[in-house]
Amino acid sequence: MKIAAYEYTIKANKDLERTMGNRGTCCHGETTIEIDPSFPEQLKKETLMHEILEALTAINDWGEQKFDHHLLCQISEGVYAVIANNPDVFTYTLPEGI
Ligand SMILES: [Zn+2]
Repeated sequence: MKIAAYEYTIKANKDLERTMGNRGTCCHGETTIEIDPSFPEQLKKETLMHEILEALTAINDWGEQKFDHHLLCQISEGVYAVIANNPDVFTYTLPEGI
């Protein structure tokens, strides 16, 4: 998946929630996003949106001071809800294997 100028690899990691307590992670240094596949589809899609915003935060160096994590969570949930509730406007499918 392309995020800004970078090609990110989106991978399933079934141990994320158990080992880290997270549904997803983003590593800009490795241009990788991992999603725990053991959650319902809508949670995985919201998590992917969240991690895309985490990637954009890293890419644009917004940093925690200017764009705190709580705000990122709210924006992610809001954008995901708009996408999910308007399927005639947006198509949002998870990458294969997630
Ligand atoms: Zn986060």
